[in-house]
Amino acid sequence: MDVIRLLPDSVANQIAAGEVIQRPASCLKELVENSLDAGATHIQILVRDAGRTLLQVIDNGVGMSETDARLAFERHATSKIKEAADLFRLRTMGFRGEALASICAVAHVEVTTRRREDEVGTLLEIAGSDVIRQEPVACPVGTNIKVKNLFYNVPVRRKFLKTDQTEMRNLIQDFYRIALVWPKVQFTLVHNDEILLELPAGTEKQRIGQLFSRSVKQDYTAHFVDLKVQTDPVTIHGFIGKPESAGKQPQQYLFVNGRYMRHPYFHKAILTAYQGTLNADANPSYFVYFEVEPETIDVNIHPTKTEIKFQDEQMIFQILLAAVREALGKFNVAPSLDFDVEGRPDIPVADRSRQPAFTMPVISNETHYNPFHSRPDEAPRDWQKLYDGLRKPEPAEELFAAEAAVAIPSGTPTAVGSRYIVLPDGDGLMLIHRVRARACVLYDMYMRQIRAEQGVREQLLFPDIWDLDADQIPMVQSLQDDLRYLGFELEQLSPLSFSVNAVPPQLNGQNALRVLQNILADVTATGSSLREEWQKSLALSLAYNAAGGQQTLTEAEQKELIEQLFRLPSFTRTPDGKIVLLRMTEEEIARKF
Ligand code: ADP
Ligand code: MG
Repeated sequence: MDVIRLLPDSVANQIAAGEVIQRPASCLKELVENSLDAGATHIQILVRDAGRTLLQVIDNGVGMSETDARLAFERHATSKIKEAADLFRLRTMGFRGEALASICAVAHVEVTTRRREDEVGTLLEIAGSDVIRQEPVACPVGTNIKVKNLFYNVPVRRKFLKTDQTEMRNLIQDFYRIALVWPKVQFTLVHNDEILLELPAGTEKQRIGQLFSRSVKQDYTAHFVDLKVQTDPVTIHGFIGKPESAGKQPQQYLFVNGRYMRHPYFHKAILTAYQGTLNADANPSYFVYFEVEPETIDVNIHPTKTEIKFQDEQMIFQILLAAVREALGKFNVAPSLDFDVEGRPDIPVADRSRQPAFTMPVISNETHYNPFHSRPDEAPRDWQKLYDGLRKPEPAEELFAAEAAVAIPSGTPTAVGSRYIVLPDGDGLMLIHRVRARACVLYDMYMRQIRAEQGVREQLLFPDIWDLDADQIPMVQSLQDDLRYLGFELEQLSPLSFSVNAVPPQLNGQNALRVLQNILADVTATGSSLREEWQKSLALSLAYNAAGGQQTLTEAEQKELIEQLFRLPSFTRTPDGKIVLLRMTEEEIARKF
């Protein structure tokens, strides 16, 4: 007897719906993207009970003919691609022809639509994939679609919906991601008869202001500088927050070709450009828009996925890093003393004509300038060379010998600003980068905890809830054990959330969710599938996060840190190669006078 049967359409659609329509937010996103694809310039969104009972989108786009309206709800019915090759030329948001079929499989749907050339429009009512009513109707040009009682026939889905507040937050978040790339489109968002947002058409910057300014008087965008770079593989523009405006709740948005994306690697490029300009707990805001040839990114992405693969990822990383540094440098916000000068990648070829304003650390002339030794514009690098006795990358054994020969300094340490410690070192002196030193100490400890498969935890009285995107879940699950050795106790609560029951004691009250997000981004950015690589990245990321959260130290704490540092098998550089300490001998000092 044959056992294979084709699934009825209604069932197949329900299965597909599970992927495309996970919650009210994803449903709304599909509807709004359809309106945008239809060329609408005004889109009204009406929501009731966070989308559980009603999601309605009214647009002034091109509308549909009677036949098309009927076809639109069939699976793989789309007006946007005709052949496989079209996939590579894609400029529209939707293209799979899955969304409407999926939505009407799990909700009651009602549409009225009319094209400019038609006298009357079409009304269509569908429930669980069946057309219940179809008739001519008088209506304005455009499309008006109501999605009622979402998941009425899928109890499991309904059960996993969170509180109205959470669902609404998700919905608004998805809406923001769209509104930010469509500033020329006028939007209205209404929830339970209350107008939440009324966004007139304008420029990108105005749209950012509309969405994030707290009041009319206070323009959110006042603290942003413009970013602009045009190269072969990519055109980048946008707005980045000045370091002094960085805070605990940054707005960080990346877009490519009019689509929101998450890209931990590009995020890292931006943060790297800010390095040294930010206070320990501060995070910069940015809105960065990328334009690339559609065929250089992977477009056949899953509709709910926001991660996008670029062909020239490394090159774009460098371009972005250089562009952000330049933008920051132009506004005189670069750090004054920079431990990172040598690790700096050169600005890519395509952009060589631009002379970045940031390459030179600014150090007062008396300290470094010696006309007999170097040209003035090379002076800072020279200065660094003089001061850094251990700077050249020695072969491992030599380095170890050099380090082992250094006794733990016994002099009294003094803090220099909030970032450095200076102390007498025999006949010379030593400068220590406080956060990096602490990160080295913690990294060593965390790696030992991972190897021993045990570590200290601090139980939280009120566990935090960590909401994740579906595509992050497998990663978190596979990191769960290693995270536990580091002190994080996670427990999966639902398909998309974990409760955080315990944290590493070294966090000192820092926001655990933020630290976890950072760690996840760092581990993801390694792009490695080796557990050993993950563990190192995990330990290092947590070490930096914990070290960065620590404020100024007392003299005793400084002493302790230095002792711990000097006991490590290797302490002149961080595990990722950054300089931890600089030494200057008496002879070198003498040469300065
Ligand atoms: P896709 O957007 O991937 O093509 P959908 O299921 O979202 O698939 O929509 C199917 C088709 O219905 C679209 O290709 C389009 O032709 C039509 N359509 C959907 N929404 C609208 C709208 N608001 N205005 C005009 N046409 C629409
Ligand atoms: Mg669509």
